[in-house]
Amino acid sequence: MNNKPNRRDFIKLAGLIPASAMAPHALQRLSSRTSLQDGEQNVLILVFDAWSAYHVSTYGYQRETTPNLARLVDQAVVYHNHYAGGNFTTPGTASLLTGTLPWTHRAFQPNGTVIEPYVTRNIFSVFKNHYRIAYTHNPWANTLLEQFSGGMDELVPWLSLFLESYDEIIHTLFKDDDDIASVSWTRNTSINEEGFAYSLFLSHLYETLREQNIASIRKDYPRGIPAIGRAETNFILDQAVNWIGDRLTKIPQPFMGYFHFLPPHGPYRTSLEFINVFGNDGYKPITKPEDVFTQKFSQAELNNKRTEYDEFILYADNEFGMMFEQLKTSGLLENTWVVLTSDHGEMFERGIDGHSVDAMYEPVIRIPLMIFEPGRTTREDIHTPTSAIDILPTMLHVTGQEIPAWAEGKVIAPYADSSADVNRGVYTVRSNKTEQLAPLERVSITLTRGKYKIHYYAGYEERNVFEMVKLYDVEADPEELVDLVDIERDVAGTLLNELKTKLDEVNRPYL
Ligand SMILES: [Zn+2]
Repeated sequence: MNNKPNRRDFIKLAGLIPASAMAPHALQRLSSRTSLQDGEQNVLILVFDAWSAYHVSTYGYQRETTPNLARLVDQAVVYHNHYAGGNFTTPGTASLLTGTLPWTHRAFQPNGTVIEPYVTRNIFSVFKNHYRIAYTHNPWANTLLEQFSGGMDELVPWLSLFLESYDEIIHTLFKDDDDIASVSWTRNTSINEEGFAYSLFLSHLYETLREQNIASIRKDYPRGIPAIGRAETNFILDQAVNWIGDRLTKIPQPFMGYFHFLPPHGPYRTSLEFINVFGNDGYKPITKPEDVFTQKFSQAELNNKRTEYDEFILYADNEFGMMFEQLKTSGLLENTWVVLTSDHGEMFERGIDGHSVDAMYEPVIRIPLMIFEPGRTTREDIHTPTSAIDILPTMLHVTGQEIPAWAEGKVIAPYADSSADVNRGVYTVRSNKTEQLAPLERVSITLTRGKYKIHYYAGYEERNVFEMVKLYDVEADPEELVDLVDIERDVAGTLLNELKTKLDEVNRPYL
């Protein structure tokens, strides 16, 4: 997790980089704010990390975790069977951003990177005519954003929307150069209209810290101020949301924005108003048999964690509601496609907690996807399986741009020119110990086609899982309780054959 912004980032952020050092594209855009031409719509991708579709009331979860979303989806296309590219941040995010599966982009490992061709083959590189801006709270996602930053106009440094980061950044980056530090301080704390660069968020942060100290924020978060893991690098979602909402009204249009927020990723620290909302609601999750990949958590422990996670979703949902209102008020919604999704899910069943897990059950790989299209006033529900890799081609298509040959996803319904391919198979791939250029041998893969989903596991010797296959009818049995592998033998055989043929094909160049 050593992804602190480097000095150059900070100088860039402080608006101190000489004009000649900036990308020509950025310069050109800075010089004039043009109004939108026909077909030049904005795209805004919002990712809430580790957000399982299983836990979203709009998808049928019994707890009302997403009241804001429930109110807003009447104007959205809602995808019910949308799958992540992987089951944790690195492969999931890389698939979303490159429009390719993990065995193609090769970002398999925690905090891994994509192979060279995808440094310039991603959602930023293809939206050439858009002003491209990105931010994430998640350091592993940030590793990928830094890799792709050559194709961006603006990568907001990840620590810049954290609470206590300001002094830390100044101190770390400028400890040998006090003069520049004082210059940047002055420049960044004076907001002016044409101050285009990063001055605004630093001012915002400065104001926040001046007006409310951390101690006073603490009482609003009884489980702790939201943070990245145990590092206690704190953030408050509404600050990030407010800053971004404001920034979007100031950057040139059309823009393509990618914003990846940490909640509801653990630690689950919801705000005061959502504490114990579900604590005594009587909801009893279904008890499922312990899996071969169990981490030995008891059902009671899992139920407690689930409750805290669900209460953290309320916080994320509330912030999404506020961001949506902000976009509406600013008028941006009229010409902006808003894509709401996640990088992977989370699970609390079968003795397993979270998403650092080799199992590939629905809660950890099925994620929300909702597309808010400019001007749409009705809801449409799509049940055909879709994948994170479809977002890149679909957003290019709806904004009238060409889809590159290397993109592996599809333009999805209702935006595809032809009707959706009901026979399409969607893969999710985990191979978290595989070196970037090695064949996948220790692997978890699912293939979902229509109502069937096959799980394939290989190479987990420590669990005596040399090769294991499961088959579920996820339409009739969404909880994956009845393994059909020995009942629907033909289906299992066909899907397994297809999956293994594909695995051989993707492994060939690396053997
Ligand atoms: Zn994640």
